[in-house]
Amino acid sequence: MDAAVVLNTVTTSGIVSTGCHGARCANSTIPEKVISFQIVTANGELREFSDEIDPVEMSAARISFGLLGIIYKLTFIVEPMFNLIMKDNFPKISDYWKPENLKNDVLNNDSVEVFYWPFNAAGLNEKNDKLWVKTCKRTNLNVTESQIEEQFGSAFQNLELEFGDRVYQHIVKFPESTPYITHFLFKAGVEHESEKIIQAPDAIHYQNGIDHIPCMDLEFAIKINNDFSNVIDEINYIVKRIYELAADKKYPLNIAAEFRINKASKCLLASTYDENPDTYYCLLEILSINGTQGFLDFSIELSERWMKKYNAQPHWAKCGNMFLVLFHMCVNIWENV
Ligand SMILES: Cc1cc2nc3c(=O)[nH]c(=O)nc-3n(C[C@H](O)[C@H](O)[C@H](O)COP(=O)(O)OP(=O)(O)OC[C@H]3O[C@@H](n4cnc5c(N)ncnc54)[C@H](O)[C@@H]3O)c2cc1C
Repeated sequence: MDAAVVLNTVTTSGIVSTGCHGARCANSTIPEKVISFQIVTANGELREFSDEIDPVEMSAARISFGLLGIIYKLTFIVEPMFNLIMKDNFPKISDYWKPENLKNDVLNNDSVEVFYWPFNAAGLNEKNDKLWVKTCKRTNLNVTESQIEEQFGSAFQNLELEFGDRVYQHIVKFPESTPYITHFLFKAGVEHESEKIIQAPDAIHYQNGIDHIPCMDLEFAIKINNDFSNVIDEINYIVKRIYELAADKKYPLNIAAEFRINKASKCLLASTYDENPDTYYCLLEILSINGTQGFLDFSIELSERWMKKYNAQPHWAKCGNMFLVLFHMCVNIWENV
């Protein structure tokens, strides 16, 4: 497959039925790569779904959240193994963060993933903060890392993230330590410029051991405007709010704000559903360690903003506490009636 979720411990049906996505800009959701399903329905019948049999039913089956029954078998479009040049850069926000730079990266790479790690520069000064920009581009060149090197790297990442989780527990107990700890973790474990050629699955699942970091997550799909300026605006908004809240001794974001870019999906329940398949969507998310104070309030603030400004839809697979967010939003609306 040419794209998938970063996590490598998920099941095929789990990522398909919840409409998951990878980072490949020209792709849509992963379920769009499924060409047929066999589903056991509630009355025990084995039903076949495909575009040839019924495209509307197939569109519902692609993202079904388990509601049509149990997926027994599915068939994906796959291709022969290929290699990707994977680059990790850490430009200063003030240098890189312009619509034309982002658009250029999207149009000239297979995938682009951008992270904002809170308080990553010393001295609590947002002007010096950096972004982590990960790009992948298909190549016919040979790999520069052997499978053994990749496996060693993965084992090391596992240990790193086990250690990271222990450090994060300190943040939960002492939120005011957030800027120091996130700065330390960024310098020690994240900020390593690199460029290597690896096999596609190693690039897609580039981070091992993320399941060691039990986190809270909120992700929305935002339709990107022509010049990509709204993606710039939304990251700027998050950075600005993180510093405003820190001045008030509130630290709701302690892992990262992150986004990937995909094209629109034709699946009825996709967060990136759109009639025009060439429309780009930004899948923007915030992640904090479980138990982080203020994460729910920050999620409500961002959800309200993105729904009002862009009619953005949540990615349910990454909105574990979205029901709480929606509940609080309904209470707010009710109180204002
Ligand atoms: C650390 C982390 C990183 C992640 N990264 C990404 C990412 O990069 N991109 C992204 O889009 N998402 C990502 N996710 C979200 C994740 O991919 C989804 O939550 C996915 O559903 C998990 O797969 P699972 O196999 O654990 O699902 P499960 O929890 O087992 O299943 C999820 C749902 O799928 C349905 N389902 C599962 N199996 C079947 C079946 N056989 N038949 C019918 N329905 C079924 C059910 O409704 C079930 O509730 C990430 C999550 C975490 C925790």
